[in-house]
Formats: sequence, structure tokens, C-alpha cells
Amino acid sequence: MMIDSHVHTEFSEDSQMKIKNALEHSRKNNIGMTFTEHLDLKFSKGTDITFDIDKYFNDYEKYRSSNLMLGVEVGMQPNCIEENRNIVKRYPFDYVIGSIHIAMGEDIYYPKFYDGKTKKEAFEKYFSSMLECVKQYDFIDSLGHIDYISRYATYNDNEINYNEFTQCISDVIKAVLYNGKVMEVNTRRLGNKQAYINLINIYKTYNQMGGKYVTIGSDAHHFEDIGNNFKEAIEICKLCNLKPVYFKKRKMEYMDK
Ligand SMILES: [Zn+2]
Ligand SMILES: [Zn+2]
Repeated sequence: MMIDSHVHTEFSEDSQMKIKNALEHSRKNNIGMTFTEHLDLKFSKGTDITFDIDKYFNDYEKYRSSNLMLGVEVGMQPNCIEENRNIVKRYPFDYVIGSIHIAMGEDIYYPKFYDGKTKKEAFEKYFSSMLECVKQYDFIDSLGHIDYISRYATYNDNEINYNEFTQCISDVIKAVLYNGKVMEVNTRRLGNKQAYINLINIYKTYNQMGGKYVTIGSDAHHFEDIGNNFKEAIEICKLCNLKPVYFKKRKMEYMDK
């Protein structure tokens, strides 16, 4: 069964998804899920974006199964590594995504991040934050959405063109592999042809550098989006010689297609 390893339910600040609808959709479409609620400590201006983790396990424990795992998406920043590490250690998460939502204290989501910066400057700032965090966050399982910045950048061409960012990409991949982590194929942008082509180059490099496994996640905040663009993600796996996996009890498992 395919597993969508990146789903936000109503425990995430920016989602209202009900577990009931998520389970129904997953059953209908024959796809398993891992919930990965947002944990972004020291978010913009130092406020924590968090959730009631005890309640999360209390409420959802009874739904846990071979098709439903309970995870977390940790927003990585260098100034809250130990706090994040302790939370991850304290709870029985199945899976931990490490993501960059903030680069050097600035929120990538807002147009302000790009003001007065060339694309090269903004993207290099993003990648250097990612590199620094991937090196230090040795307690994650998978690096989330490497193309997150392309969702929100304000340039004519927001893609991570391989030739433009070869060094940044290979530095990040090297750190991922050095720490024994995997990369996520985030399916959010795979409907966009240009994104798809650029991502293939990134995952080909990942494979050439020794990467073997990827998790696949839709980043759904609405139940209808669970499993979105999985066909394209599987194509990327085939083209790049990567095996799709998911995590259960922090252990990697193969997805059977
Ligand atoms: Zn994210
Ligand atoms: Zn997410």
C-alpha cells in the first residue's frame, strides 16, 4: 500500500482537517497516512507554533494501525535544537520530518523575505539554513520539501534550477546522507511540469551521491489532497532509481506499489 507520509490534521495550527474525513478518504483511495503536525518552535518573532502532543496521542492512539502512523513535522532552526530533540525523545512518534520554514530568523512564506534580495541571495540563504540544520538535527528521519521556497518566492522563475544551485543542492544531500537520513518527495508541486523536471534533477543527484530511499508526502491540509500527485512521485522514484519508504516506530519500512 502507498503511504502518504505528510498530512496535517486539526492539531496543526493551519489545518482544520478532521481525522474522520482523513480516514474515510484514505480508505476510499486505498492509501495509508502518517500525520505530521506542525511543531515550529521560536517561529517568527520567537513565538512557538506547537500543539497539545499529549492530547494528540490520547485522541489518535485508537486509530493507529498499519495504515495510520503518528508523526510530527519539526520546523528546523539552529536556536531550538535541544528543545526539539527533547520533545522528539519524549513522545512515541512513528516519524519525524525536518523542515525549513524559516531562514536565519526570517519567514520564507512572506513576500518580505524576498524584498531587496536577488533570487540567488534568497535561495542561498534558504539553502545555507537548511545545510546548517540538516547537519545538526540528527534526530529527524526525513528532510521535508526541499522545494518549499519555490512555493512562495516572488521571482519570475521560482524553480530550483539544478545548474543554478548545484553546489547548494549537493551540500545538502551530502549532509542528509552523512547523517543517515532520507529525503522526502513532497508532491505539492508535482502537477507543475517545470517543478517536476527540476525535482527529477535533484533526486537524480541524490541517487548518484548514494541516496536510495525517499518518503513521499502530499503535505495535505485538506482531506481531498491526501495522496495527491502520487503517480508523479512514483515516476520520479523509478526515473531516479529510488525506493519509496515510510517510517513506523521510527523504523524505515518499504512501500509496496
Ligand atoms: Zn512544511
Ligand atoms: Zn507540512
